[in-house]
Amino acid sequence: MDQDIFVVIEHLRGQIADVSYVMLAGARQLTQDTGGKVMAVLLGHNAQGLANSLAADGVLYIDHPALAEFNSDAYQIALASMIKERSPRLVIFGHSSIGMDIASGLSAKLGIPVVNSCRTFTADGKFVSQICGGKIMAEGDLPTPTALITMVPGGYKSEQGQSTQSATMTAASTPALDGIRIRLKQYIEPDTSDLDIARETMLVSVGRGIQNKDNIELANELAEALGCAVSASRPVVDQGWMPTTRLVGKSGKRVKPKIYLALGISGAPEHVEGMSDSQVIIAVNTDPNAPIYNIARYGTTVDMFDLLPVLTDKIKQAR
Ligand SMILES: Cc1cc2nc3c(=O)[nH]c(=O)nc-3n(C[C@H](O)[C@H](O)[C@H](O)COP(=O)(O)OP(=O)(O)OC[C@H]3O[C@@H](n4cnc5c(N)ncnc54)[C@H](O)[C@@H]3O)c2cc1C
Repeated sequence: MDQDIFVVIEHLRGQIADVSYVMLAGARQLTQDTGGKVMAVLLGHNAQGLANSLAADGVLYIDHPALAEFNSDAYQIALASMIKERSPRLVIFGHSSIGMDIASGLSAKLGIPVVNSCRTFTADGKFVSQICGGKIMAEGDLPTPTALITMVPGGYKSEQGQSTQSATMTAASTPALDGIRIRLKQYIEPDTSDLDIARETMLVSVGRGIQNKDNIELANELAEALGCAVSASRPVVDQGWMPTTRLVGKSGKRVKPKIYLALGISGAPEHVEGMSDSQVIIAVNTDPNAPIYNIARYGTTVDMFDLLPVLTDKIKQAR
């Protein structure tokens, strides 16, 4: 059995997802402690150029037209063949819609256990997973001989998984990729009529704690005083209080502002995935045990409805 760790690179439309670099960084830490190589696994069609930025000991790739777009069925067939042939110690996926789709299917197909929502690895090779929406961190032994992992961002910086030196590319054997049951019908481009929160340098972000649509005005006033935009967590968008273009997280935008002010946001993994790379995270949350405090540099448990009018006034005065 090999000690190598496979990291399945998540990419869409020629863009590598940030979580891929986080996974490479996590895998690197683990191999430093337990041995083996970090092998990036790149599935696609004419996508080998994407390998240039990956901090891996090697890149295993399969190039096939059936892998030109993400296709869970095709990915599972390709990965099942690779895992059977090479018996890696671990196969890591992003804890994303794509990663969860492949990992759960592969787990059932191959009878290999899957560890979900892994955030970090310990020096003695254990996994640390965030469960119950990030409220509890669970530590455990990695199943043997092979385990599948889905990894949430936040435990490692994505820069740690990036490199300017290309790793050696090896073509893995391509299994028969016919009889695929899933077919891409249409790719829906996101709405670009609103501002792009991914480009903003400061964001005031509102969560369910804001309670109703009218209260969003408090966040708007603060953002106006600061000269920045307002973004939101999913419940706010699901309620129709703000447009989907302002959604931060797994199903929304990935943002990297200098300052991210989270108002009444608990810090669920799906939200954190989209904002953990912010330079400074400031949390306003009345619950001192809210997971947002695991990643916030500054925070207060003051009620936001007491804080917001005062803060907005102070900023207006200072300006
Ligand atoms: C497949 C999938 C994809 C998802 N994608 C996303 C995504 O892209 N983005 C996303 O955000 N979520 C996403 N979610 C939902 C996610 O799991 C959480 O449910 C969501 O992020 C919670 O939003 P929240 O923090 O605003 O609400 P809550 O978790 O309800 O937190 C509200 C917080 O407000 C605090 N609060 C309440 N009142 C006050 C007050 N007066 N002052 C200060 N603090 C207060 C509370 O203490 C609480 O911590 C997804 C879920 C799934 C399953």
